[in-house]
Amino acid sequence: MSPAGARRIRIPALVIGSGIAGLTTALVLARKGIRSIVLTKADVPEDCNTAWAQGGIIYRGRNDSSGSLTRDILRAGAGLCNAEAVRFLASRGPAVVREILIEEAGVPFTRTRKGDLDFTREGAHSVARIVHSADATGRAIELALLARVKRERRVTLWTNATAIDLITARHHSTDVQQRYALQDPCLGAYVLDASGSVHTVLADFTVLASGGVGRLFLHTTNTEHAIGDGLSMAERAGAAVLNVEYVQFHPTTLYHPDAGRFLISEALRGEGAVLVNRAGEAFMHRYDPKRKDLAPRDVVTRAIVEEMTTRGDPCVYLDLAHNYRPHEGQAIRDRFPTIAATCDGFGVDIAKEPIPVVPAAHYFCGGVLADLEGKTTIRHLYAIGETSCTGLHGANRLASTSLLEGLVWGYHAALSIADRLEKGQTFAPSMFRAIPGWRSPGDAQNEDPALVQQDWTTIRNTMWNYVGIVRTTERLGRAVADIRDLEKRLSRFYHETKISKAIVDLFHGVHASLLIAQAALKNPVSRGCHYRKS
Ligand SMILES: Cc1cc2nc3c(=O)[nH]c(=O)nc-3n(C[C@H](O)[C@H](O)[C@H](O)COP(=O)(O)OP(=O)(O)OC[C@H]3O[C@@H](n4cnc5c(N)ncnc54)[C@H](O)[C@@H]3O)c2cc1C
Repeated sequence: MSPAGARRIRIPALVIGSGIAGLTTALVLARKGIRSIVLTKADVPEDCNTAWAQGGIIYRGRNDSSGSLTRDILRAGAGLCNAEAVRFLASRGPAVVREILIEEAGVPFTRTRKGDLDFTREGAHSVARIVHSADATGRAIELALLARVKRERRVTLWTNATAIDLITARHHSTDVQQRYALQDPCLGAYVLDASGSVHTVLADFTVLASGGVGRLFLHTTNTEHAIGDGLSMAERAGAAVLNVEYVQFHPTTLYHPDAGRFLISEALRGEGAVLVNRAGEAFMHRYDPKRKDLAPRDVVTRAIVEEMTTRGDPCVYLDLAHNYRPHEGQAIRDRFPTIAATCDGFGVDIAKEPIPVVPAAHYFCGGVLADLEGKTTIRHLYAIGETSCTGLHGANRLASTSLLEGLVWGYHAALSIADRLEKGQTFAPSMFRAIPGWRSPGDAQNEDPALVQQDWTTIRNTMWNYVGIVRTTERLGRAVADIRDLEKRLSRFYHETKISKAIVDLFHGVHASLLIAQAALKNPVSRGCHYRKS
C-alpha cells in the first residue's frame, strides 16, 4: 500500500527533468497558456548535467552556415546520423538560441570588447561557432532558464520527486478493453516524493527529459542523477530504444584522487592546449596526423588509453600553459576561471604547468527513439535531450551539440504538444479513472545501505571494465551475464522491500546498464564511440 498522503494529480503536461530540455519545454508550454509539472529527483532543480556544461553551445559563427555545421555533425557521427535530424538542428538551432536563451532568458554569454558575442571553437568543428559564458556556460544557461520559468505561474517545479514508472494503459489500466489498443498510450507517471508517498500523476502528455547515463560507469563527468532512468522506464513501458551502445567518453578529466572526475573542457585544446605523455612528448600526431589534438573525442580518448597502456602511466597531461593562444587578449585564468580555480584546489596551476588528465564516461548518444518533435513510439510520450535518440549524434557526438539538441527539441516538443492539445487530443476521463494508485510491491523489510552500495559498486565496475572504452566479446558477455543476474536478484529484493529512492535508483540503473551491455554485445562493428577490439 502507498503511505498516507499519496495523491492523484491531473495535469496537461508532465515533464520529467529540469535540465535545459525540460525547462525549455515547460517555458514554451507556459507561453502557450499550458500548465505543466516539472519533476526533478534532485534537492534543487539546477543540480543536473546542464549546469555542469562548461565549453558552450553552438550558435552560428562568422563565415558559418547550416551546411557547414551539418557536414561537421555528420562527419563526427561516423555514418550513423539521422540526416534529417542533423539538418533540422543545423537550420533551426540559431533561431531558438536567439529567441529562448538570448532574448527570453537573457543568458549572460561572454562578449568581445566590442560587445559582440564571443565565439570559440572546439574539436572537429570547422569554424568558431560556439558561444559561452566563460567556462561555466551550462550554469549560466540553467540559472537563467530557471529564473525565467519561476516567473511562470503555469509551471510547478517539484523537487525531490522521482519518477518510478511510466503509466501506460496496457500495463496499468483496470479497464481490460483498454489493454487491446495496438498503440499503447502513456498517461503519466508514478512519482515518489521525499516523504515516501507515491503519487499518481495523470497527464495528457508526458515528456521524458531525464538526461544521460554517465553515473553507471566508475569514472564519469556526470552528476549522481545521470543513471539512465528515462531509458529504463521507457523500455520497460515498451518504447523503442536505439543506439544505446554508443556512450561517449570524454578524453580529458582531472586526474586526482579527490577530484571526482572534473571535466577539463575541449575548449582548452581549441585554444592551443596539447596532450603530452609523462615524458613531455606530444603524441596526438601519431594517432591522427591531420587533426591531432582537435580530432573527435573517440579518437583522442583511445589515443590516451593506448598511450597510458603502452607506457604503463596512470594518466597523460594537457599542456595549456606553454601552448595557449591568447583569446581576445585574455590571460589563461580569465579565459578559464572555473577550471583554473578547481585545479588550484588540487594543487595544479593551469597557467604554469600541464594538467594530469584521464578519460571518463561523458555523454549518451543513444536513447529513447524520438522523431523531430520528440514523439516516441508510445502515444502521448515524448523524449527530449540526452535521454532521447533522435539520431542527431549517430555513433559519436560533435562537441557542444548536446545543449543545443536539448534546447531545440525541448522547444519543438512543446509546440507539438500545444498543437495536439488545441486539436483536442486529450484522454477521456474514463481512461484516467481506470488507472489505479501505486501499490508498493512489498513492505517486508527496509533496504540495507550496505547491499545498495555494494550493488552500485558492482554495476559501476562492471560497466567501466567490461563495457568501457575498449570492448571485447568476452568482456561484454561477462557484463551481460553478471548484470542480468544482479537484475534478477534485485527484482526479488524489490518485491519484498519498501519503496525508497535508493531502491528506485538501483532498479533504473541496473536495467539501463543491462540494455547498454546487451546492445554493445550485439554490435560487433567498431564505429564512433563504440569500439570493439574483438
Ligand atoms: C561536465 C559536463 C560538461 C559538459 N559540457 C558541455 C558543453 O560544453 N556543451 C554541450 O553542448 N554539452 C555539454 N555537456 C552535455 C550536456 O550538459 C548535457 O547533454 C545536457 O545538459 C543534457 O540536458 P538534459 O536536459 O537532457 O538533461 P540534464 O541536464 O542531465 O537533466 C536531467 C534532469 O532529469 C532529472 N531526472 C532524472 N531522472 C529522473 C527521475 N526518475 N525522476 C525525476 N527526475 C529525474 C534530473 O534530476 C535532472 O533534473 C556536458 C556535460 C557534462 C556532464
